Amino acid sequence: MLQRRDYSDKRQRDYCTYCRNELGTRDHVPSKVFLEKPYPDNLPVVPCCQKCNEGFSLDEQYLAVLLECIYSGSCELEKLKRNNIKQTLKDRPLILKQMSQSIKFNKNGHEININEKRIENVILKLSKGHLMFEFNTPEVEPPSSIFYDFVSTLNKEEREAFVQPIKLTKIPEIGCRACSNILVSNEGEAYTNWTNVQDHSYQYIVGYCNAYIVRGVIRDIFVYEVVWDN
Ligand SMILES: [Zn+2]
Repeated sequence: MLQRRDYSDKRQRDYCTYCRNELGTRDHVPSKVFLEKPYPDNLPVVPCCQKCNEGFSLDEQYLAVLLECIYSGSCELEKLKRNNIKQTLKDRPLILKQMSQSIKFNKNGHEININEKRIENVILKLSKGHLMFEFNTPEVEPPSSIFYDFVSTLNKEEREAFVQPIKLTKIPEIGCRACSNILVSNEGEAYTNWTNVQDHSYQYIVGYCNAYIVRGVIRDIFVYEVVWDN
């Protein structure tokens, strides 16, 4: 990935992005569990405490495995497409066994019994991380909305609307990374653009259109959006 430096106010980065407690380490957003090896260079990282850094791992793994099984159309290790996940699951057969109880594949696709709490936990973490990385803005308040779904359930218009750049109604803080990712239309309107972390693995966008908006696409099949209108 292209390295984009942050020249914005450093004080925001003295605390954990997720809980605003004391700093201890740095956290990849997205976590590597959503990516395939070889990993891209210059992956986004945000300041983070040790507790948060470790606290999201199991839920992130849950979502990554869930999406990998759906993408591959199977909960059997040999049929999974992605080597990175296969490697992780080799020594942990229980995870796939549990997953096979939540996903029922049939000839029309699949039926899932999703653990919504775990998925929301991951999406919220990812969104806070992207918002911090791009806009140098920590968000500790609960969001005004969390949405996620499978691309297959969206209609054509919804899909097209989802992947558009986000029109800015407020210019980001001077020097933050979002400033180096702005498109300007012929009419002079400013938009933020999508960041492709890795083809077929992960893309995200952060914007401010009367509210902070974070959107992501994982594994080409799953989309999410988190909004803070405070
Ligand atoms: Zn923390």
